Amino acid sequence: MPIATINPATGEVLKKFDPLPPEQIDAAIGRSVSGFRALRETSFDQRAAWMRAAADLLEAEQDDVGRLMTLEMGKTLTAAKAEVVKCAKACRFYADNAEGFLADEPADADAVGALRAYARYQPLGPVLAVMPWNFPLWQAMRFAAPALMAGNTGLLKHASNVPQTALYLGELFARAGFPEGAFQTLLVGSDAVEHILSDPRVRAATLTGSENAGRSIAAVAGRELKKTVLELGGSDPFVVLPSADVERAAQVATTSRSQNNGQSCIAAKRFIVHTDVYDRFVDAFVAAMSALTVGDPLLDGTDVGPLATEQGRDDVEAQVADAVAHGASVRCGGQRGDGAGWWYPPTVVTDLTPDMRMYAEEVFGPVAGVYRVESVEEAIKIANGTPYGLGSNVWTSDAPESERFINELDAGAVFVNGMVTSYPQLPFGGVKNSGYGRELSAAGIREFCNLKAVWVGAGDDAGVDSATE
Ligand code: NAP
Repeated sequence: MPIATINPATGEVLKKFDPLPPEQIDAAIGRSVSGFRALRETSFDQRAAWMRAAADLLEAEQDDVGRLMTLEMGKTLTAAKAEVVKCAKACRFYADNAEGFLADEPADADAVGALRAYARYQPLGPVLAVMPWNFPLWQAMRFAAPALMAGNTGLLKHASNVPQTALYLGELFARAGFPEGAFQTLLVGSDAVEHILSDPRVRAATLTGSENAGRSIAAVAGRELKKTVLELGGSDPFVVLPSADVERAAQVATTSRSQNNGQSCIAAKRFIVHTDVYDRFVDAFVAAMSALTVGDPLLDGTDVGPLATEQGRDDVEAQVADAVAHGASVRCGGQRGDGAGWWYPPTVVTDLTPDMRMYAEEVFGPVAGVYRVESVEEAIKIANGTPYGLGSNVWTSDAPESERFINELDAGAVFVNGMVTSYPQLPFGGVKNSGYGRELSAAGIREFCNLKAVWVGAGDDAGVDSATE
């Protein structure tokens, strides 16, 4: 994949970049190591001050960086600016909370024969972050803010179609005051990842992206014995039960499925609706999806812009065509847009069966698959019936029913009567083929730390246990 900004609304190549040569990659890893030595010596207060300065820069520059993201991957300018503001909030959240999240954890000193015993979180060193284009600032920030606050350094290999957003991020933290090498962007293709991750100076890796990319990074990291966090794809269920507020559910379903032009890992993608409310829900959902305004993502009134890449649009089109060929019905949309750029309209597909690709695959575009179910048991079975387990939504006003879904859905998150969203305050991640490890919250900042056991004794017999291992 070339490293280039190509406007998805027009197909026009706006800027091309050469990948970094090996000697510059090597020098950047060297700076990451020296940056780590400098950063780990700084106090939480100092790092928090720099992190708040980064938040200030983001807020002040939201129009420019928002526009850059829209030109690189097609999200609406309104959504792009909201993403910048969300990043600033995450910076402030970790500036405020990192020290508490990483405070020493006292243990029972008497029970282990010590004067003092506790666990201490310490940073690991340079961490490679391989990131996707769909939320080009937010995905990287979910890693960067906690990592830097913990005292780690970051090496960002961003998706090849968002190089200018990647370069902005590479400069942001230095401009905010962090030491040289604390956070750097490496403009490289995915073919350079194995070499970087195999470098002994790089201590760990995080990847947000597709299942294939996750498997590839995990294989290299396994061979090199390096810690990884993987945030992969999802095909989130959105279950609507008879006691739900059906009209509200249809409205939120529309927002969830169409957000980011349908390209969000935690978008609801499969709508599993009880037969008692099926027609009401589908009618309201189809009406709302049809009413969305598709068009220039830079304009204020636009709800849905183009898909980010030509390949992405072709993949979505092929998945819908496959469903139709096997007997599914298209209730709205279903035809690619005309002209330049990579357009695909909000689409609702019903009558899906297990032999169709859409049944088990993630659809990364504004296409909803709807399933009719007769019971709670059938809803849970279909909801859990894909290889993914990222987010999940359930709509019900029945408390025991909601408790059952909370317990039985195979997912990293369950949202009841709401839309799956990432918040700095809550852990974020998946199970099954959606990956492992967690971002955000206290769990996220601890992923790339060495949890060191500390035992301090008097030097007498109390510290010697012959049955030890
Ligand atoms: P992708 O093709 O996997 O790309 C993601 C990143 O991985 C890019 O930087 C890409 O570099 C790199 N990459 C691709 N193949 C690689 C390989 N074999 N080895 C090392 N690096 C590799 O994913 P995408 O199509 O851009 O993004 C969409 C996917 O990401 C969807 O499945 C979506 O659900 C998932 N996603 C998950 C989350 C989450 O938090 N769980 C969030 C957002 C997106 P190049 O661009 O240079 O190829």
